[in-house]
Amino acid sequence: MQNFFFLKADKPMWPASANVFVIKDSEGLILIDVGCGLKKFIRKLYQQFKINNLDIKDIHSIVISHAHPDHMGGISWIFKDLKRFNIEFSDIKIYINKIEKKIAQNINLLNLYFDVPLISKYYNSDSEHNLKKISDINDNFKILCAMSQLPEDCNIQTFDDDDILNFGDYKFKILTTPGHAPGHTSFFELDRHFLLSGDLIGEKGTAWYSPSSGGAIGYLDSLKKIEKLSVSSVYPAHGNKFYNIKERITQIRNKILLKDQKIMEKLEKSPQKLIDLVKLFYNDSLIQIFPGVAIIESHLIKLEKEGKILRNGEKVYKI
Ligand SMILES: [Zn+2]
Repeated sequence: MQNFFFLKADKPMWPASANVFVIKDSEGLILIDVGCGLKKFIRKLYQQFKINNLDIKDIHSIVISHAHPDHMGGISWIFKDLKRFNIEFSDIKIYINKIEKKIAQNINLLNLYFDVPLISKYYNSDSEHNLKKISDINDNFKILCAMSQLPEDCNIQTFDDDDILNFGDYKFKILTTPGHAPGHTSFFELDRHFLLSGDLIGEKGTAWYSPSSGGAIGYLDSLKKIEKLSVSSVYPAHGNKFYNIKERITQIRNKILLKDQKIMEKLEKSPQKLIDLVKLFYNDSLIQIFPGVAIIESHLIKLEKEGKILRNGEKVYKI
């Protein structure tokens, strides 16, 4: 594809940067996501720029798929480096979903959207987990993949579901696809029918989800929304380009629904505490506190809504 560059991250798995996409137009370059906010990741991004004959001083716009550290953490490094060319951060247009804007401007909100308060709620009296408790997600990620906050006076252009963004020869339809982030965005190119799927549909696996970011219900709805499109190829935020989107949607949906089924099977035998249901799926005690508890809480909310379970205090009962 002409004037479209796929700058693939070294590794597909966390804590790697997300893939970065670059579009060239008559005014310069548009970046879609920028990767983690550590110097080593930015250095790699600049190496890829060099290989592709791209120049960072030509960047005029940055599009963010969602306000997570591996997607937008690198933005403050880019702002800093552009200053060497007398380009101010306010000269760069930032495009972000209107739902994600507030998070990008106040990254403390990530704790809320990662459902960190659930950890204290459920693991208050559990000494093993208390030792590992996460209280601030940004502090937790700063060594692996630091986050950036957009400056107050940034030049932000928000977009909304069904909006069309035109960049050079490319025309992207905005699809707000929550589950993993409240304003997670997938970008569907209307002429060539390729999808920039963000974290919603990766080459492999399933992204984590949490109640405040849309949860299991939001994730399944988002998959349904994407399923309606005729997508010819997918550029995910992690991993390689792939073509079998229908198959991947089915796999992800089945994986989510299987969790419902396993929870119900366990509850069939006896009422359970949420933290014991979490152990059904995750062995590692750190994974249990994040994202385990947020994922399982998402399922309990879904099952409650469907009238299949009832909660009383810590206990979960099958109806
Ligand atoms: Zn993410």
